[in-house]
Amino acid sequence: MFEQNKIRLEFPILGSSVNGNQLVYLDNAATTQKPLQVIHKISEYYENNNANVHRGVHFLSTKATNLYEDARRKLQQYINAKSSDEIVFCRGTTEAINLVANSFLRTRLNSGDEIIISAMEHHSNIVPWQIVANSVGATIKVIPINKQGELVIEDLPKLLCKKTKLVAVSHISNALGTINPIKKIIDICHAKNVPVLVDGAQATPHQLVNVTDLDCDFYAFSGHKMYGPTGIGVLFAKKEHLESMPPYQGGGEMIKMVSFTETEYNDIPYKFEAGTPNIAGAIGLGTAVEFLDDLGLEQIELYEKQLLEYLTAKISMLAGINIIGTAKQKTGILSFTLDNIHAHDVATILDDDGIAIRAGHHCAMPIMSYFNVAATSRISLSFYNTEEDVDKCISALQKVRKIFA
Ligand code: PLP
Repeated sequence: MFEQNKIRLEFPILGSSVNGNQLVYLDNAATTQKPLQVIHKISEYYENNNANVHRGVHFLSTKATNLYEDARRKLQQYINAKSSDEIVFCRGTTEAINLVANSFLRTRLNSGDEIIISAMEHHSNIVPWQIVANSVGATIKVIPINKQGELVIEDLPKLLCKKTKLVAVSHISNALGTINPIKKIIDICHAKNVPVLVDGAQATPHQLVNVTDLDCDFYAFSGHKMYGPTGIGVLFAKKEHLESMPPYQGGGEMIKMVSFTETEYNDIPYKFEAGTPNIAGAIGLGTAVEFLDDLGLEQIELYEKQLLEYLTAKISMLAGINIIGTAKQKTGILSFTLDNIHAHDVATILDDDGIAIRAGHHCAMPIMSYFNVAATSRISLSFYNTEEDVDKCISALQKVRKIFA
């Protein structure tokens, strides 16, 4: 099992204090902290290797290009894509989904067509589809959920029809922690020839993801949620889709030849990477996935599951707790309300003790409406968290109740 003390030393920020207390960081679904390996790799890049990629013949440009393309191969291996051409670097999950909405879907969508999402999506997997749908008069259909926060997957075949152009669904819900049966969903959709986009923002940090095995058409994720830098993420797309899609943005890098009358586009994936990319970010993300691989995704998943069980057992003993999201298959995310105390008050009082949790709608307002709450408090775990972190959080929650008693 993990040597927690050793792992925590890799994350210098975990040793810092907040309001006179040692930081207890339990907001990992929002963003994760960064290990020294990633931090050093980025500063080493700027100290020794900085140049623009793909354009220069000089020594540094070749070095930077090699590092950038190495990172692409590391990401390919991390999600087991068949080719590194299927890895498009972008800003993150949000941009990856917008790319698919505006390039893949816009050209295929007509008035009366339908897009299916689920009731537990992050706004990033709702709004881009709405924008495209509204522009042509298409409609959005929603896979419902039950009171445990699980998808009612039996309803999916009934929703799919000839008018369905895409299904977009999260692998893991950021608001509830539910792990969706994504392989089953993809199989059902493919049986009706409907392509599937998976929002993998909350999955890639916590479990093995194999896009070849899943056979998904698109898989989107963010570097900063998986111990990498902000401003970098990945769109995986099957080669045949990328080949058929028009560019999302125009500019340098994405062309082979430009005249005032026409442009010949570059090969994939460069066709979708207009302008100077986030070179240091991609290289940092490449190091982050090496770090995760070294720790072992199976080990991470197991440890975080045990810690979630510990947290769930402890928090359930508190009076006034209502856990929102009690699916059978869950990752280390626990949303709750406490009596009728506002989630922001809960999080503010915990912050006094140096404990960072999230409060709000978690960019998933429809799910808040479903559970009839304005907001929840959310604890989200990482492999660097410990039972001691959980204990401190529980004591602080007891304090919150006393304050409001
Ligand atoms: N999808 C899910 C499930 C998320 O949790 C998030 C971020 O919280 C996003 C999409 C958006 O990610 P980003 O802001 O990195 O683009």
